[in-house]
Amino acid sequence: MILSLLGRILGRVSIRQASNARPAAAAARGAGALRRSPAPRPGLVRVGLVVAGLGLGATTALGITAETSGQLTAAGGVATFAGNLTGLIGTYLALIMVLLVSRIPFLEHVVGQDGLLRWHRRLAPWPITLLVLHAILLTAGYAQAARAGPWHQVGTLILSYPDILSATVGLGLMCMAGVISIRAIRRRVRREVWWTVHLYLYLALAFSFAHVIALGPSFVGHPLTQVVWSVAWAATAGLVLAYRVGLPVYRSLRHQLRVTEVRPEAPGVVSVICQGRHVDQLPVSGGQFLFWRFLTRDMWWQAHPYSLSALPQPPYVRLTVKAVGDHSAALARLQPGTRVAVEGPYGTFTRYAQQRRRVVLIAAGIGVTAVRSLLEDLPRGAKPVVILRATKTEDLALRAEITDLVKRRGGRLHELTGSRAQAAIDERSLPRIVPDLSDRDVYVCGPEAFVAGVVDVARYLGVPDEAIHHEAFAL
Ligand SMILES: Cc1cc2nc3c(=O)[nH]c(=O)nc-3n(C[C@H](O)[C@H](O)[C@H](O)COP(=O)(O)OP(=O)(O)OC[C@H]3O[C@@H](n4cnc5c(N)ncnc54)[C@H](O)[C@@H]3O)c2cc1C
Repeated sequence: MILSLLGRILGRVSIRQASNARPAAAAARGAGALRRSPAPRPGLVRVGLVVAGLGLGATTALGITAETSGQLTAAGGVATFAGNLTGLIGTYLALIMVLLVSRIPFLEHVVGQDGLLRWHRRLAPWPITLLVLHAILLTAGYAQAARAGPWHQVGTLILSYPDILSATVGLGLMCMAGVISIRAIRRRVRREVWWTVHLYLYLALAFSFAHVIALGPSFVGHPLTQVVWSVAWAATAGLVLAYRVGLPVYRSLRHQLRVTEVRPEAPGVVSVICQGRHVDQLPVSGGQFLFWRFLTRDMWWQAHPYSLSALPQPPYVRLTVKAVGDHSAALARLQPGTRVAVEGPYGTFTRYAQQRRRVVLIAAGIGVTAVRSLLEDLPRGAKPVVILRATKTEDLALRAEITDLVKRRGGRLHELTGSRAQAAIDERSLPRIVPDLSDRDVYVCGPEAFVAGVVDVARYLGVPDEAIHHEAFAL
C-alpha cells in the first residue's frame, strides 16, 4: 500500500500500471466517467454553408448595385466596376478562408481539421487571384479616367490615396503566402517557415481593411454597409482569437499538464505521460489528436499534432511518438516536470463516425496510436478486427495493450509484418482477413500514402464512403 502510494507520487510505477490497467477499468466502467468531445452536429454546418452562400450573394449584389450606369459608361468605367467587384468578392472569400482555419468547434467536429484545411487550400487561389485582378483593373480604370500611363497611376494611387499603401503591402503579403503554399515550393521549405509566412496573412487582411471602407463605392456614404462589413471583420477576428488563442490558453491553464515520464515503446518510439488537473474534464474521444507544445527553451515555439494513445486516465494523459525529425526525436529527452500547453482535441476519427455495429481498424506504423485510443472508446458490440502493419514485429508499438483490448472486446488481431509487398493490404488480402468487410465500418490510420491506398481498396471492395474513416498523419 505504502509502496504503491510512493509509486503514485513518484509517477513511475503507477503510470506503467495505470496505462496497462486502463482497458480493464474502461471495460468495467465503459470509460463513462470521462468527458467526451461533443457529438458532431452536421445540421449546424449546413446552416453555416447557407449563411456563407447568402453572404457571397449579398457581397456580389453590393458590388453590382454600387455603380450607376453613368459611371459605367464613363472613361475607365467598366474596368473600375470590375475592379471594385473582384475586390469585394475576393475580400469576402479571404474572410471565409480565415474562418475555415479558425478552429470553430462545430466545424471541427463535423468536417475535421484535415477536411477544413482541404477546403481552405481549394479556396485559396480564388481570393488571391481576384484581389490581384482588383489591383490591376482599378489601376487600369483610374488610368483611363485620368488619361495617365499605368505606372504613373500606380504611383498616384499609392502616394495620394488614403490607405492604398497599406493595402498594397497587404496584397504583397497575401501573394507571398500563396506562393509559398504551392505544393512544389512548400515541400522545399521548412514547415516553420511556411507557418510563419502564413501568419502574415492575418496582417495582410488587417492592412487591407481600411482602404475598403475609405474608398469602396459600396461603403463611402453608406453607414449601414460600413457597420455590417466592420462587424463581419470584427467577428472573424474574434473567432480566430477565441479559438486559436483563448481556448488553448484556457485549457492549458486549466489542466496544468506536466511531463511525468518518458517511456520507450519500440525502436525510435516513446510514450510521453503527462499528469494534470481535471483531466477527466478534457473533452476528448478515442482517436483524436491535440497540438502539443512542450515548454522547454528549445521547443516552446512549436506545437505538433500527436494523437492520444490511450483515453485519459486521470490524472494522466499519454501520447506515443515515433522519432522522424527534430521535434519528435527531442521528445525522448524531455525531463519530468516539463510544462505542456495543448490545443485541441481535434479530429473526426472517433466512435461518432461509426455507421455500422462492427468495425475493422487498420493501422500502419505509428498510426497505431489513434487506433489504440479509439479501440478503447468503441461502443460494446463493435467486435473489432484490428490489423496492424509494420516492417518488423519489434516495430509494433503498444502491441501488448492492443492484444489485451482486442481480447476484452471479443475481437480479432492480425499483425502483418514484412516489406510492403509481403504484407500488403490489398483487394485480395483484406477480404481474406475480414470476410464480413461489407458489414463493417473501416477505420484506417497511418502515413498519407498508406491511408490513401487502403481507402481505395475499401472503396473497390464496395465499402461506401460514409463507412470509411481515415486519419492520415499529415496536415
Ligand atoms: C492528425 C495527426 C496526428 C498525428 N499523431 C501522431 C502520433 O500519435 N504519433 C506520432 O509519432 N506522430 C503523429 N503525427 C505525425 C507528427 O505530427 C509528425 O511526425 C511530427 O510533427 C513531425 O515533426 P518533426 O519536427 O519531428 O519532423 P519534421 O521533419 O519537421 O516533419 C516530418 C513530417 O511531419 C509532418 N509535420 C511536421 N510538423 C508538423 C506539424 N506541425 N503539423 C502537421 N504535420 C507536421 C510533415 O508532413 C513533415 O514532412 C500526427 C500527425 C497528424 C497530422
